Amino acid sequence: MDLKQNIRSIPDWPIKGVVFRDLTTLMQNPEAFRLSCDILYDRYKDKNLDKMVGIDARGFVFGAVVAYRLGIGFVPVRKKGKLPHKTIQQSYTLEYGEDTLEMHEDAVSPGEKVVIVDDLIATGGTVGATVKLVKQLGADLLECAFVVELPDLKGRDQIPDCPVFSITEFQ
Ligand code: 5GP
Repeated sequence: MDLKQNIRSIPDWPIKGVVFRDLTTLMQNPEAFRLSCDILYDRYKDKNLDKMVGIDARGFVFGAVVAYRLGIGFVPVRKKGKLPHKTIQQSYTLEYGEDTLEMHEDAVSPGEKVVIVDDLIATGGTVGATVKLVKQLGADLLECAFVVELPDLKGRDQIPDCPVFSITEFQ
């Protein structure tokens, strides 16, 4: 199955000049969704992970399924103001302005082996902030995983010390 064929491209969204890769079409196709999750499961099944860390919001969809299959915990990294307990925060730059991600300060313990998951890496700002959060808590970060990578935007350069795995790419 070609997963890319199940990803819808929306020109000029959310702003003119951007082609948004819409993964809701992949998620709503049972075979494509299952294959995406299975690829991640197969990659990590022998790695003795402790937690999957998913990025708000589509990282929750893939991250939670893979965590369930691996029999490990799932940790949400959320946009500011959503988590109820004590958090650590990290701001990052958007095309216009700034945003902040948060993680519960007790979500990951020092030395726990984790993978960060999101649906897509574009400029790498979002995952860059997440890597800082996870490292601040002392986790052992194996790599960051994405269903889609947009290599032209060089998101990997934001996390030079962390391996990146992506299932598919759009040039
Ligand atoms: P970055 O910080 O790497 O520039 O952007 C990645 C974040 O924004 C991810 O959380 C991702 O969900 C979202 N994002 C940016 N562009 C796209 C896109 O074209 N499609 C999807 N599905 N998400 C995007």
